[in-house]
This record gives sequence, structure tokens and C-alpha cells, in this order.
Amino acid sequence: MARTRLKEIDAVGKVKGGNGMKEKTAGADTFFGSNVFDLRQMKKCLSKKAYESLRRTIKEGGKIDPKIADEVADAMKTWALAKGATHYTHWFQPLTGLTAEKHDSFIEPDGEGGVKLVFSGEKLIQGEPDASSFPSGGLRPTFEARGYTGWDPTSPAFIKEGPQCATLCIPTYFVGWKGEALDKKTPLLRSMKALNKQVTRLAKIIGIKCTQQPYATLGGEQEYFLIDREFYYQRPDLIQTGRTLFGREPAKHQQMADHYFGAIKTRVMAFMEDLDREMWKLGAPVTTRHNEVSPGQYEIAPIFENQNLAVDHNMLCMEVMQKVAERHGLACLLHEKPFAGVNGSGKHNNWSVTGPDGKNWLSPGDNPHENERFLIMLCAVIKAVDTWAGLLRAGIASAGNDHRLGSHEAPPAIISIYLGEQLTDVIEQIEKGSAKSAKQGGTLEVGIDSLPSLPRHASDRNRTSPFAFTGAKFEFRAVGSGMSLSGPNIILNTIVADALDEICTKLEKASKKDLNKEVQKILKDIIKSHKKVIFNGDNYTAEWVKEAEKRGLPNLKKTPEALAESKKPETVKLFERQNVLSKTELLSRHETYVEQYQTIMEYESRLTAYMAKTYILPAVFEYSDLLADNIKNTEGLIQSKSTQSRKLLKEINDLAEKAIQAAEKTDKAAGGGANKALAAMAELRGYVDALEGLIPAQNWPLPTYAEMLFLA
Ligand code: ADP
Ligand code: MG
Repeated sequence: MARTRLKEIDAVGKVKGGNGMKEKTAGADTFFGSNVFDLRQMKKCLSKKAYESLRRTIKEGGKIDPKIADEVADAMKTWALAKGATHYTHWFQPLTGLTAEKHDSFIEPDGEGGVKLVFSGEKLIQGEPDASSFPSGGLRPTFEARGYTGWDPTSPAFIKEGPQCATLCIPTYFVGWKGEALDKKTPLLRSMKALNKQVTRLAKIIGIKCTQQPYATLGGEQEYFLIDREFYYQRPDLIQTGRTLFGREPAKHQQMADHYFGAIKTRVMAFMEDLDREMWKLGAPVTTRHNEVSPGQYEIAPIFENQNLAVDHNMLCMEVMQKVAERHGLACLLHEKPFAGVNGSGKHNNWSVTGPDGKNWLSPGDNPHENERFLIMLCAVIKAVDTWAGLLRAGIASAGNDHRLGSHEAPPAIISIYLGEQLTDVIEQIEKGSAKSAKQGGTLEVGIDSLPSLPRHASDRNRTSPFAFTGAKFEFRAVGSGMSLSGPNIILNTIVADALDEICTKLEKASKKDLNKEVQKILKDIIKSHKKVIFNGDNYTAEWVKEAEKRGLPNLKKTPEALAESKKPETVKLFERQNVLSKTELLSRHETYVEQYQTIMEYESRLTAYMAKTYILPAVFEYSDLLADNIKNTEGLIQSKSTQSRKLLKEINDLAEKAIQAAEKTDKAAGGGANKALAAMAELRGYVDALEGLIPAQNWPLPTYAEMLFLA
């Protein structure tokens, strides 16, 4: 086994990075969205009437008119066939956090021995996969296991290219027979609707003209690792759990900060170019690519989009990344902490709202009205995040993210908001009820009556905050790299909708002439009660942990305590009030996520024990045998005691003994709860990582951290 590993290193060295550009590729504008049945395609192949009806559904949300369904389905089929499609699938997002698809071909026997290719409106609009094996948290016992998928026309159908043919994918939501949400898209769409309702309501109150449906916007930055695929195949832990369960910290890793934004290696560049092209064909506007902090770590980020579309595109991106990596002899790791001791991977969730006036409501804007709109939104977010900090933490809770949060340039589990010095100053002015100018130059017009003026480019950068205002959006940075973006966004939309709901209810009671005064009073009250969630300092310090405790901010370190937030009675009421999730739907999710967490604890500890016993210890014994023989022979020959060699042998033997014992303990701990399992795994890992520093490199059975992080 060990010998194979060394051959792999040899093989990696021979991989050609490429010899420069072969030919100029066409500009993205010529093929962007070529695999998407988007408005451009619809306009080309639908009747005017059907196109207008569908366009309205897409822009305004809602269900497609059944009268046009057949025409749309037929056009879609013709388009897909031309792209080489043989099958179609309803593409949905069950509670596994991944995507699901079940393919059906277009063929239908023609009764004369041949087939015709058909696709009806009915099949486009609704599917009925047997859904009994998806997690539902007891929501749906198997005897009534019917699940329905329904087309979400706000996310366009697309083509997935296979090795030889293609599949038409129709983004769908997934519900039970009574309409109960079994997936992550249904509540996301409901939460977007809840937010839209309140934003429109506020627009009417403060006199903003509504010309369109408002919608939440999202730009999800995605971090990931790339390692050589040969190494990946040699690590059962990576294959099965997505993270390394063992691995001694290499002497050099990210200390020099020389990887971040560094020149991109040719082989990685080839991967990135390929990935960008694939995503562009799928109509996803990916735009940024760079090296991240840890060696072997990278990022891809899109231009923000309608939130629902952005979530779908991120789900697709995670899938495409893995396929493209395979093509390049690489493995793409999306786990939050594939390697201990270096940076983990996150997904920065850039969130804002495009209002019914078509403007970004978290952009301070240029005139007093925009400024008022902005300050109300800002305070609604502050109120929401402070009130529901625990719930937000629950929305990003996972076994993987637990390893990442609070260490190596990852935000802690304490949710706080970074506003920056200038906006904080504005907030303090509102609290005092006085309207002066902002602290530094370049300020905007003074707001309505006595709202303070707003600084332009107000936010500097604080990379340590889990929830930072960054110019014209909030950036929730605690989201894990492997998660669906749905969870945190469902919560964000819902809690901000709820805060706006309360604000609107108060404002609706005020008379027109007192409206501005009432706005100021409401904002002042919000700031008074909720400013404790604002923190502009370094979130990575121990002092902040203490300070946060003093302020009464929750610090929910591990997933189980975080998840408990989502079943509290007030959480149930919140989701019911905003029509996002019923009590049963919410509790079933809680149950599903708790079970997923426990299952991960269980198989990770089983695998840790197994690898120690079947990979590590045999290699250790092989070497200690060799060493013992060597000591015996040497001492026999030269008649002196090899004191240091004996010491080394003893050290190896002691560690091996401890490792055997710890492996037994880890195996037993598998079913004994997370704390026991985690502690046992950590103990065992400690012995094994120490052994890695004593056993000859050529005998070590697993690719090392240095090899995986640096050789790709
Ligand atoms: P970084 O945070 O890495 O410095 P930027 O702040 O430029 O990068 O942008 C990060 C992400 O935020 C991008 O995906 C960008 O499209 C997105 N973004 C910008 N404006 C908005 C917005 N109004 N709503 C949602 N996302 C946005
Ligand atoms: Mg960012």
C-alpha cells in the first residue's frame, strides 16, 4: 500500500499542466446560457400569447397557466432534442442537502414497433417520484410515500450534458400529497414571498412607487479544495466523509500567506477555465476566481441574481465542480474542513433586496427618500439578526461546519453584525435622536426631517465578522461550503420579513403627517434594544467571546444546541406567522437534521477506528518489527546498547498500544453520542498523527497533508 503512494507522487509529477492556449475561445457572450431554455429561447419557439403568459409567470411568480403547458412542453422538447437530449428529469432539492433526479426518456411506443418522442404539459408541470427513501423527519410514513414535484418556472429548464447524450432538467419543488414541503425549495419560495409582501407594504407606506415585484438577491461565493485524484482514491476518509480523519500538520502550510491571491498554477487554471465555461453554458454568471488562504484552496464567485436562481445555480455549481475536477484528474472537496490546522471552506452569502422600485434597498442611495428606505431596512435587519441570532446559527449548523467555525479565519459561532465605524456612528445618532452629518467626508444629503445623513462607501472590510455590511448588502459568512444556500436564506428572508411586518404595522397606525416622526421613533427603539448585536472588532479573539457573553449573545458551539433553536415555540410561531413552514414541517426538519448529524458522528467514528486498525497499525508494526530486528542485530554485532534506537522503538510501541486502545474506544463511542465520539476520534487521531512523525515516509499508508495540499 505504502509503495503505491510513492508511485502516485511520481504520477502527479508527470501530469502536464498544459502548454499555453491552443486556440482562442469564443467570448462568453456567444454561448452564455446556451444550455438553458431561457426567455430568449421561449421567445423564439413559443406563440406570442404563450410567451407573454409564461414571461408574466416568471417575473411575477405563481403557477403556469395549464392552457399553455402543452405548447411549452413541446417547444422545450424540440429544443432539448436538438441539444442531444434523450431523457428529461424533474430536478429537485430534498432534505439531504443535495439535488435529486430521476430520468425518464421521451420515448413512447407507436404501436407499430417503433417509438415517437413525446413530452406533455402534464409531465412538465408535475412529476410523482416514489419518495419513500428521502429523509422527511417522520413527516411522511412510507405507506403514504407519495411525493410530487412541480415545475418552478422562475428557474429555467436546462440541459445537463452526459458523456454521450443529454438530459433535460426541470427545476421543481417537492411536496407531499397534502402540499407539505419535503424539500428546500418550497420554503425558500415561500420565504421570498413573505419578504416581498412586507417590502411592498413598506414601499406603499413610505410612498415609493411600485413598478415590479420585489425580490431577494443573492451572490454566493464558493470556496473549495482541489487535490490530485490519485491521492483522493488513497484516502478512504476523504471518499467517505469528505474530510481527512488523520493527518499530521506539515511543517509548512499557510503560515506565509503566500497562496492567497497567488498566481494560479496551470493545472488548476485549466480546471477553472473549464468550470467557468460549463457554468456559463448553464446561464450562471460566475465571474471571480482566485487562490484562497490554504494551499490547495480556491474560490469561485458569481454575480448576484434573484435568490431562487442563485441557490439553484450554486447547487449546480457544486455538482459541475466535481465533474470538471474528475476530467482534470483532480478531486474537488466541498467539505467545510477537509484538513485540520489550515483554513476551512465557507460560502459567503451576500444578501440584499431589490425593491418594487427596482432599486437595491440596502444601498444607501443618493437622496433622502432612498436614505429613509435604507435606514428602515438596515434597522429591520439589525432587529431580525439580534432577535433570531440563535436561529441563524441553527441555519448553518452541520457536523462539518462545527469543525470550521471559530478557528482559522472562520467566524465564531457567535452571531454578530459588523456595520463599520461610519454606519455605527449614524446608528448612534439615530439613537440619540439628533441629526448631524456623518463622521467622515463624502456624505450624502441629509435625510427626511432629522434622519442623519449617510456616508458613501460606508463600510471598510472586517473579514472576521460572521454577518457584515459590505457596501450595499449583508454578507453572512458563517455558511458552510458544502451546504445548500437555501437553509440560511429561508431564515434570513423570514426573520427580516417578520421585523418589517412589525415595523409596517406600527407605521400603518401613524397619521401621514406624523409618519416621519414615527419612523424615527421606531428606528430609535430598535437600535436601543438591539445594538448589542453590533460588533466592529476582531471576532477571532477570546475577549470577544467574553464580551459577547456579557452582552447576552448566544454562543451555540455545536450543532445539537444550535438545532434546538429551530424547535423552540417562538420559532414555530415565527414560521407559521410568515407562512413559511408549518409546525409539522419545521419539526420534521429539526428531526431530519439531528438525525443526519448523529449519523455522521457514527460513521466518522467507525471509519476512524477502522482506518487506524487496518491502515495505520499494520504499517506501524511493519516498521517496529524492522526496527526491533535492527536493534537486535546491531547490538549483537557491536556489543553495545542502542539506547536511542530502543527509545524510538519504545515510543512507537507506546503510541501503537495507545492507538489500539483508543481505536476500541472510538468504535464503541460511535453509538454513544456526539461528545463521546468526537473526543474519542480526537484522542485516536492524536496518537496516529504522532506516529506519522516517526514512521518512515515510504511506509506510511496514507497520502500526507503536504502531498495533498501542495501536489496538484
Ligand atoms: P468580496 O466580498 O469577496 O470582496 P464583493 O463584495 O465584490 O466581493 O462581492 C461579493 C458577492 O456579493 C458577489 O457575488 C456579488 O455579486 C455579490 N453582491 C453584490 N451586490 C449584491 C446585492 N445587491 N445582493 C446580493 N449580492 C450582491
Ligand atoms: Mg466576500
